[in-house]
Amino acid sequence: MTIESVERIGVVGAGTMGNGIAQVCALNGYEVVMRDIETEFVENGLEAIDDSLERFVSKNRLSEEEAESAKERITGTTDLDDLDDCDLVIEAAVEKMDIKQEIFADLEAITDEDVILATNTSTLSITTIASATDREDRVIGLHFMNPVPIMEGVEVVVGEKTGEETVETAHALAEDLGKTTWESDDKPGFVTNRILMPWINEGIRAYDEGVASKEDVDRGMELGTNVPMGPLTLADHIGLDICLDASETLYEELGDRYKPAYLLKRKVDAGDLGKKTGRGFYEYE
Ligand code: NAD
Repeated sequence: MTIESVERIGVVGAGTMGNGIAQVCALNGYEVVMRDIETEFVENGLEAIDDSLERFVSKNRLSEEEAESAKERITGTTDLDDLDDCDLVIEAAVEKMDIKQEIFADLEAITDEDVILATNTSTLSITTIASATDREDRVIGLHFMNPVPIMEGVEVVVGEKTGEETVETAHALAEDLGKTTWESDDKPGFVTNRILMPWINEGIRAYDEGVASKEDVDRGMELGTNVPMGPLTLADHIGLDICLDASETLYEELGDRYKPAYLLKRKVDAGDLGKKTGRGFYEYE
């Protein structure tokens, strides 16, 4: 499937990343079908898109007409079969291998055989996800950054069996969405999370072990290394459950230096997942 043939994009998962990806695809002229498992999650995703588009309009970065026609191009559903006529699918469901493999096997069954199946996984192996299908040459990592409508970068992750045409289409799609790409081999965490996750975990440990207050851990890294957000604020934005899943994968694959911080586990157990639940390391309205 080349980029010229892609008109309708399926998005699996309507959470933080799924609704961001759906929004960006629709804003760039693609028809989008966004699927989640519960009506409530689909509705929350559509609402998040409305809010985000409104913010762009209020900042004069989009016209009302552009926002309205983007909204009209997005359909929400709980029925995976509604993605059967999509030309390309981007999966952004939870970071669990068994769930992703099940989704990919289901997607293979309902879509045409030349349809590219992309995953937004943060750390899981593209090759292992692809092995749940007989379409391994058409499975690829399309790793968008959070928040999708704002962040420019997309990491293209190439599995053992990903085909050349699939790689070209993935780069072309991301560029058509106004993004800039780089490529990573299918190694745990790829470029970004292999480096980011230990940094976040070390920030959490520094706070937990009393090196500094949470504000000063963040301030130290922001002012000291010129990053826009310190590790605790960034973890809250990503979602602490997502950070823990990613850290556990890296720990399992790469050993001790990726061991998740104790406090990260404790926060996730308490249901304090960051901005999305109103409380993580900080409190949110
Ligand atoms: P999230 O928890 O906000 O959303 C995940 C959504 O997937 C939920 O709404 C859930 O109901 C839905 N879901 C679960 N099983 C499903 C299924 N079988 N079919 C359809 N939907 C299903 O998570 P997120 O932050 O959007 O992360 C999604 C993916 O993107 C993960 O693989 C994550 O690692 C990756 N990712 C996250 C970030 C980030 O900063 N949050 C950045 C890059 C990549």
